[in-house]
Amino acid sequence: MQLKRLVAIAIIAISIYNCKEDNSAEEAYKKEIAEVVEKEKILEFGFDIDQYIIKRDTIKKGDSFGEILERNNIGYPKIFQIAEKARDTFDIRRLQIGKPYTLLFPKENKEDSIQQPNTFIYQPSIEEYVVINMKDSIHAYKSKKPISYIEKTATGVIENNISLTLEEKGLSQVLANKMADDIYAWTIDFRRLQPGDRFKVIYTDKYIDDTIYAGVHNVKAAYFEHNGDSLYAFQFETDSVRGIKDYFNENAKNLRRAFLKMPVKFGRLSSRYNLKRRIAYYGYKIRPHKGTDFAAAVGTPIMATANGTVIESTRRGGNGKYVKIRHNDTYTTQYLHMSRQAVKKGQFVKQGDVIGYVGMTGNTGGPHVCYRFWKNGKQVDPFKQKLPEAKPISDSLKIKFLEHIAPIKMQLDNIHFFEGSIEDDENPTITEDLTTDIQ
Ligand SMILES: [Zn+2]
Repeated sequence: MQLKRLVAIAIIAISIYNCKEDNSAEEAYKKEIAEVVEKEKILEFGFDIDQYIIKRDTIKKGDSFGEILERNNIGYPKIFQIAEKARDTFDIRRLQIGKPYTLLFPKENKEDSIQQPNTFIYQPSIEEYVVINMKDSIHAYKSKKPISYIEKTATGVIENNISLTLEEKGLSQVLANKMADDIYAWTIDFRRLQPGDRFKVIYTDKYIDDTIYAGVHNVKAAYFEHNGDSLYAFQFETDSVRGIKDYFNENAKNLRRAFLKMPVKFGRLSSRYNLKRRIAYYGYKIRPHKGTDFAAAVGTPIMATANGTVIESTRRGGNGKYVKIRHNDTYTTQYLHMSRQAVKKGQFVKQGDVIGYVGMTGNTGGPHVCYRFWKNGKQVDPFKQKLPEAKPISDSLKIKFLEHIAPIKMQLDNIHFFEGSIEDDENPTITEDLTTDIQ
């Protein structure tokens, strides 16, 4: 909890930096783009909007496809025909309350004729839509709104007393979480951030249809000053087949450790590995505990602590439902008492992937995950291990990596920190950075 709070404070101080020198050229460029756009048709869902009368609504309780069309002057034999022909693409019974739909009425209809829509568009999510074309050749198809990614930069200075009113502008809570959980989880203790610690970050925001903000998509690079140390982080894909991307410092050193400390994000260490444990239930005889227990609510996601292959996902005796993952020749981990597993034998999992959920199956007095850590076939105490660093970058990739990060590092170094606190500034100017469409 403490961690999240501090991160939240850090992010409030964010200022999105604008490089002033290049503005005139940038403005001219934007104007050019705007002029071109004006001449183009305005398309929505791939239709030239000017050609139609548009009726937008959402599915209400009790609505059905048939009733909606009936209200709009389409009769039953035709509704049946439409439903039949659209069936392979879209089952009209699956309309959900609250989802938007759009009806397109052709403009060329004569004044005295009854207005009938010729297209029905349903949006099951903000990205997807289904078009049911109801003209002579009835057909249906699914499509997606175009997605764009805008690259942005931001800086932040850790302060203690920042008014909460700015929190509303902090659309970047996700950004803070990414830095704390994904990038610097092994190198910076976010509970020990100091006032004056500061960071820069280059990230991409996701937009649907160029207008709908869909959150922070990815962090490309970051820089953090903490305790007098400067920590660079550059994202780089080391395995395109499995889609493994890691963060490395400027010398190609992986910032990630091979293992997470715990298999649950929020859990309490309830029983450590202890070979001499005595418990009352067994008459105070020695009952070694070769696992490490983390108590958490039933249903809490359990994560793979390292990349590996699932070698068991089953239910057996006192272990209850469990998953066992082989990481390499040396290490294997096992996760017991799940309410259910989320992976199958043979599946490759990445560090942090959800492999199951906390439960009470097998011998257990309460909901927890018993985490078992195997080294060379023997169960050991994970807290007493000097855990290996994550796989280093290969020599051949290292050259590629250094080439890849050179311009990004220069970009990071040229981002200036926002000086002074936002709180003291009467008119904080928060300007968007030069935007680059990368897709
Ligand atoms: Zn245990």
